[in-house]
Amino acid sequence: MQDLESLLLQNRLLTEEVKRRIDQLAAINTVAATVSQSLDLDRTLKTALQAVLNVVGADAGGISLIDYDTGEVVLRAQQGWTHDFVSPPMRIPLGRGMSGRVISRDDVVLDNNLDGSEQLAVPRFMDEDFRSIAMAPMHARGKIIGILSIMSKKPNAFVGEIIAVLKAIADTVGVALDNARLYETSVEQEKRLNAIFQSTADGLIATDQNGRISLINQAAAAIFNVEAEQLIGAPLREAPIHPRACESLLFALSSRVEENKSFQVTLDNGRTLSFFLSPVYIESQVDQGRQTDGWVIIVQDITHLIEAQRQRAEFIQAAAHDMRNPLGVAFSSLNMLNSFFQSDASVTEIIEIAIRGVSRLQDLIDDLLNLEQIESGYGVDKAEVDIGQLVNEACAEIRPTLAEKELLCVADIQGDNLRVQGDARWIKRALFNYLDNATKYTQPGDTITTRVFFSEPFVHIEVLDNGPGIPAEAQAKLFQRFYRVAGTEKIRGTGLGLAIVKSVAEAHDGSVYVRSRPGQGSAFGLTLRAE
Ligand code: ADP
Repeated sequence: MQDLESLLLQNRLLTEEVKRRIDQLAAINTVAATVSQSLDLDRTLKTALQAVLNVVGADAGGISLIDYDTGEVVLRAQQGWTHDFVSPPMRIPLGRGMSGRVISRDDVVLDNNLDGSEQLAVPRFMDEDFRSIAMAPMHARGKIIGILSIMSKKPNAFVGEIIAVLKAIADTVGVALDNARLYETSVEQEKRLNAIFQSTADGLIATDQNGRISLINQAAAAIFNVEAEQLIGAPLREAPIHPRACESLLFALSSRVEENKSFQVTLDNGRTLSFFLSPVYIESQVDQGRQTDGWVIIVQDITHLIEAQRQRAEFIQAAAHDMRNPLGVAFSSLNMLNSFFQSDASVTEIIEIAIRGVSRLQDLIDDLLNLEQIESGYGVDKAEVDIGQLVNEACAEIRPTLAEKELLCVADIQGDNLRVQGDARWIKRALFNYLDNATKYTQPGDTITTRVFFSEPFVHIEVLDNGPGIPAEAQAKLFQRFYRVAGTEKIRGTGLGLAIVKSVAEAHDGSVYVRSRPGQGSAFGLTLRAE
């Protein structure tokens, strides 16, 4: 009989225990289901608190989040309190009060007999007249993100399984809040990026890897005179933008080289647009290959700049022309004067100084004008140029002048079909500058060789002389404007010849180089991309 009774008792206790566990799980489940419904942080905070109070049967509660940047515990939601502690939010420095204990212990902190004598971090909290309080840490991604508190007006309100339930619920709420906070941060970042994207003065277009427009800002929409919404999702090739601009863009995007590209397009209405394209790479966990995920295109309407450049070039040309005329007159007058005073050596010496000054001024004006023109890009017309033929022509032109100085001029064209896209006039002028220097700095009897050769993907034009060579420390500065190597001041020159060659190279996306050793001659090179 005794055995049966104890068996029944055990059975009843077991059933009650199972029921309690089921109730606990149901309570946790109810809260989990409620808080996972939204990604809105404020809403999640409110619904989570309500759900918690319902399942644990507390009079009041609060949720605080930890702001690790400011080192504070910030109350974000409250329910059942007489005072408003949320707006503005109650902030407790990390480590202070009961919340400090929750964090340092990383466990539930309970006080079932508040009698008003407690040292509280926020004294005003005393007015709430709570007799029991339980606070549990909320975890997410391996750290404490906040504290879930429940309160009651009755003493000894939180005993038994309520504490275990509170602990489990706190973590469920923590994960939900952390997700909501992450989502809020990413939405905020997206908004911020979009605001920057929209407010830049440059037109910006982003495409995905299939060439569909994924983003376009107001400035770009205004340049193309279209509604931004119309273009989102549309393939670039079908976008209602000017056909010439569209064609150039598709051409640039179709080439395999995945590097920055830039070009300008002049439309039928005279407007000039400048495009700058950069590939976008997004790190992918799945695909480790370096494939572009699309492109960012910067568009600028540079019509006003082109116009200003044209006006400047015209002005400089007119000014140079106006300066050249009186200089020409002075030059011929001085020469005439010189012939009258041939018998008086001291007078002719003075006149010759004046003549040298005037001709130096003429050279300077010519070189400055050339530099200005090539740098502005105004009047640079590119077409297919056969470099072998160009070098042969140039050498033929200059050979008589060199012969007068007893210099031998050799053209060494290695290979054929050495073609580039360029402006033949400017390439020739650059070559003449190299040849002119070689002439100036060599001695009678020397040989000047112009060599042309191909080295994938470039065509090189090299002028070699066996003149005095150039000290190593001067070589880096040679292509700077007005730079002349010390000791060469007496030789005619402006210090602009090599700067012009460099600008010609740059106008053709090419480069220049020099190899030289004092006493062993020099080699000056111009590198252009082969067609
Ligand atoms: P410049 O009008 O003085 O020749 P450049 O810009 O053409 O101006 O050349 C700059 C300087 O480079 C020259 O003053 C000269 O000192 C040096 N230089 C250029 N070419 C040669 C060369 N072939 N041999 C030796 N020195 C040279």
